[in-house]
Amino acid sequence: MTHYPKQEINYEPYTIRTMLKQKEKKTCLLCDKELKGRSDKKFCDDYCRAAYNNELKSVCNNHIRNVNNALVKNRRVLESLLPESRSTAKATREKLIEKGFQFKYHTHLYNTKNGTSYFYCYEYGYLPLENNWFLIVKGREG
Ligand SMILES: [Zn+2]
Repeated sequence: MTHYPKQEINYEPYTIRTMLKQKEKKTCLLCDKELKGRSDKKFCDDYCRAAYNNELKSVCNNHIRNVNNALVKNRRVLESLLPESRSTAKATREKLIEKGFQFKYHTHLYNTKNGTSYFYCYEYGYLPLENNWFLIVKGREG
């Protein structure tokens, strides 16, 4: 067994120097090219800034469009399961999913006095029942 002399090793100055060096080396958020000059710079130039912001905006717009489409689709599914002649209907989770219903999207909730919550997609709502059944309703969301 070799015995090394006891020695206090202090890594801190090295670590801090490395961190500072990494901080210095900033790259453009769009093209990843190394940035020179001001430390608060995020882009090479106005072109990269504009392109980055446009991309961000279109990602946001796509997300909004996808959520809106899903909500409209959910509404259509509930509508298709509720005959005009009736005020309520029942459907299974499988049936709803099969028709393209996405449970994560709803427009609002309606909480009744006895503590149950109806999930609404526009004017159509549903109430989770037992054993993966759902009660589908129209209107009366308060
Ligand atoms: Zn760039």
